Amino acid sequence: AVHGGYRTALERGFVGAKVPLGLKRKRLRVVVTGGAGFVGSHLVDRLIERGDSVIVVDNFFTGRKENLVHHFGDPNFELIRHDVVEPLLLEVDQIYHLACPASPVHYKFNPVKTIISFSQLLLRFALVLSVHKTNVVGTLNMLGLAKRVGARFLLTSTSEVYGDPLQHPQTETYWGNVNPIGVRSCYDEGKRTAETLTMDYHRGAQVEVRIARIFNTYGPRMCIDDGRVVSNFVAQALRKEALTVYGDGKQTRSFQFVSDLVEGLIKLMEGEHVGPFNLGNPGEFTMLELAKVVQDTIDPDAKIEFRPNTADDPHKRKPDITRAKELLGWEPKISLREGLPLMVSDFRKRIFGDHSEVDL
Ligand code: NAD
Ligand code: UDP
Ligand code: UDP
Repeated sequence: AVHGGYRTALERGFVGAKVPLGLKRKRLRVVVTGGAGFVGSHLVDRLIERGDSVIVVDNFFTGRKENLVHHFGDPNFELIRHDVVEPLLLEVDQIYHLACPASPVHYKFNPVKTIISFSQLLLRFALVLSVHKTNVVGTLNMLGLAKRVGARFLLTSTSEVYGDPLQHPQTETYWGNVNPIGVRSCYDEGKRTAETLTMDYHRGAQVEVRIARIFNTYGPRMCIDDGRVVSNFVAQALRKEALTVYGDGKQTRSFQFVSDLVEGLIKLMEGEHVGPFNLGNPGEFTMLELAKVVQDTIDPDAKIEFRPNTADDPHKRKPDITRAKELLGWEPKISLREGLPLMVSDFRKRIFGDHSEVDL
């Protein structure tokens, strides 16, 4: 997939895009890697809406064409099936680098403690390798691309870089408490390496970079069976199954609705600050409290079933978003009780088979 031959929108000085407040601005050519995924597809919606030209690069590992089907045929939208582990030539102004296999259900469980078949073991290893390669080689390639064309590069890192944090809430200055050899370290350490590469290209090659540390995010189009807690609980409650609470359910997370995140990512990309910036909702819930919200929203009779927890599970997590508030003028607007119903209607349609409505 080589897209050479045209000058970037900035050089062309293209004006006249649709923007809020009717202001004229240059139409940018923007790449979103991982744009067929949950967060990426919502970001693409917003970029197209404001009049940018968007190229999605995705290998459909966990993403789906359905998430983008409403843009097919739009001359400002292009979808390239490509693995970012392979080099890629494009001429663009901005790169949102989201591509990353995010499927904790596969890499979090410990094969020593769980009896699994040889083929399951091979599958898990393939996934772990893919996480490594995408985070390291994929990020390197996208930074190489940014360097060559002078594009601004935004990395979607994660709150997992804080590991099982010894500081609470977590500020961006905290260096984290990560097990480098654990079952989830392919993801945590992979993202830490991606952050390192990003800062090295910034310092060494003057690439304009931005780093977001994203905290747990939920919303429509989340993968139904990816094993994350919100998607599990919502799917379980809709299917009249028990909600599976791991461990004692007293561990905490802070859940952000996807539209808040997308707004934060765009503000970060457009702003003047490199970061890293925590992007998350400071509302903190234990898994038992989350289960209660899901019961209240979907089915008050839903049962709870306790299961053993996965290894190295962080005990608590909550973003300190002072930096994003002050420097980006951003803070989340949608609480868990407001956001959850918006996700439930999407899950209901997908689980119970009404694929005709794509009105997200
Ligand atoms: P997702 O799995 O829905 O999206 C990731 C996308 O990347 C998918 O479309 C997948 O097919 C694609 N992809 C994976 N490997 C690729 C490769 N090698 N080449 C090209 N495409 C590839 O996940 P998401 O929740 O939308 O996450 C988006 C980003 O945000 C990821 O980088 C993730 O680590 C980060 N993040 C998400 C959360 C969250 O709660 N959702 C939290 C922290 C960080
Ligand atoms: N790269 C890419 N697209 C580009 C430019 C570079 O995919 O437009 C890849 C390139 O293949 C290399 C990586 O990005 O693997 C890093 O590129 P850089 O130029 O920084 O390093 P070098 O190629 O000198 O190792
Ligand atoms: N969890 C749970 N039940 C599930 C899935 C996850 O209780 O069905 C717990 C998990 O042990 C963790 C928390 O929910 O403590 C968040 O897990 P998730 O995989 O969603 O996100 P992460 O651990 O990456 O923050």
